[in-house]
Amino acid sequence: MEILEAYLTKNPCYRANLAVADSRYAVFQAGGPKGLMLHSVGCAQPKAEVFCKKWDRADYDRACVHAFIDAKTGAVWQTLPWNFRGWHCGGSGNNTHIGVELCETDAIRYADGASFTVLDRQTALADCERTYQAAVELFAFLCCKYDLDPRTAICSHREGGKGGLASGHVDPEHYWSGLGAPWTMDGFRADVAAKLAAPARENDPIYRVQVGAFRNRTYAEAFLTDVQTHYPNAYITTKA
Ligand SMILES: [Zn+2]
Repeated sequence: MEILEAYLTKNPCYRANLAVADSRYAVFQAGGPKGLMLHSVGCAQPKAEVFCKKWDRADYDRACVHAFIDAKTGAVWQTLPWNFRGWHCGGSGNNTHIGVELCETDAIRYADGASFTVLDRQTALADCERTYQAAVELFAFLCCKYDLDPRTAICSHREGGKGGLASGHVDPEHYWSGLGAPWTMDGFRADVAAKLAAPARENDPIYRVQVGAFRNRTYAEAFLTDVQTHYPNAYITTKA
């Protein structure tokens, strides 16, 4: 998974987070997300960069999300820190959920509202699958990072609307069904859960997070005490 940092620092939502504009921002920043909401952009624009440029403006006060997934590369363009409060769903879900947008293929043409015609089905399905697989990987990473259960913590904008958390949109299910693609939110949750549960292979490397190294054990213990205020399970290992 490729994550590119593209914070929307000029967007009023980003600035409201920096200023901790009210208690909703403080709560989200301190406690992190309690859920993850999947969106799709609702227009035939596959390039994440186009949205990043358009939304990174002081007068773009309509919306702000945490990431866009590019339909041509599958790269994740992260537009807000994960623990910032976003403006992605037009409801109370903004207080609890990270919002991620799938960019949609340019091999479709929207008519009215959420209906579109498919110009090139093969390209459209390939573009769609690229964002789907990247979203599975990203959501598994975020479930792991924030200790979220994919079966209960993940919803779509459409489901959020039905559950009273969000405005009444239909994304991203309209995109999948409009393409005649096999994907559903239940399937998505199951795919994220499967990714989380996948056993490590024998020769996989082990990634350790190191935050300090000392020749003097007393200094190491003093530093460990600091680290343990945030990560109580941190401990000292010794290398000769
Ligand atoms: Zn949406």
